[in-house]
Amino acid sequence: METIERGSAGTSRVAIVGGIHGDEPAGAEIVRRLAATLDSEGSGDGTVRLVIANEPALAAETRYTDADLNRAFPGDPESDEYERALAPRVAAALDGMDAVLALHTSHSAPPPFAIYSELTPSVRRSVTGMPIDYALDSGNLRSTTLDSVVPHAVSIEVGRQGSEDAVEFGYEACLAFLRAHGALDDEPPAFTETTVVAGDEEVPKGGGEPHVYFENFESIPRGAVFAEDDVYTHRVDEEGVVPILASEHGYEEIFGIYGRVQHTLQPPDAAGDSPV
Ligand SMILES: [Zn+2]
Repeated sequence: METIERGSAGTSRVAIVGGIHGDEPAGAEIVRRLAATLDSEGSGDGTVRLVIANEPALAAETRYTDADLNRAFPGDPESDEYERALAPRVAAALDGMDAVLALHTSHSAPPPFAIYSELTPSVRRSVTGMPIDYALDSGNLRSTTLDSVVPHAVSIEVGRQGSEDAVEFGYEACLAFLRAHGALDDEPPAFTETTVVAGDEEVPKGGGEPHVYFENFESIPRGAVFAEDDVYTHRVDEEGVVPILASEHGYEEIFGIYGRVQHTLQPPDAAGDSPV
């Protein structure tokens, strides 16, 4: 794990983490670009901590060396598995932060979206402060991800794995995150409302030629087929279902996840939270 400290324009302590998965080079690239752009001294007392989590996996260009780091939290310092022992060190580097952003890319198509486990005022600020329209509330999904263990953490899927678009978008999203928490004052923060989707139902793949008929967060009309192959025909028989991580060839065992639209998240001022 590599940690780089940069100055903040404000009082909040925020962190951005890239390189959790070694086959997603965008995160580390974004962190390096932020390190080169941000001043080492800020006008405020806060801090911007930049973290590159898993250098061995990045060097090997594999998702992980021993275990998926984003399924290994809280981890075990005594573990022989590299990522299981790394998880507590990453969590310690993020301890006491007012806001944390973890960068990811996927095999799925845009639009980019955020993922959070617990909606704290800081998380609301992060999610509505970034240029995304959708957030996945994964509160009852898993307990081994970074955002389910580290307080005030938000993960963001910035785009397709290996694409330059993912780096460009992710970098802009990081600047927006920093502005939302007062860590960067080059321009005022821009908050927008965000649609929150809950999802926990995996859509299994069987075999043969896979077909996916709807894009991420596109509303699937009742009775329509979301995806099919030689084994499955996944027809949706309720309202308000949208696909998440939809992909024909990205994942071996699933077409994606069914999400269900929950509510709209309002920006912090409208919601009555005082700024950090
Ligand atoms: Zn990832």
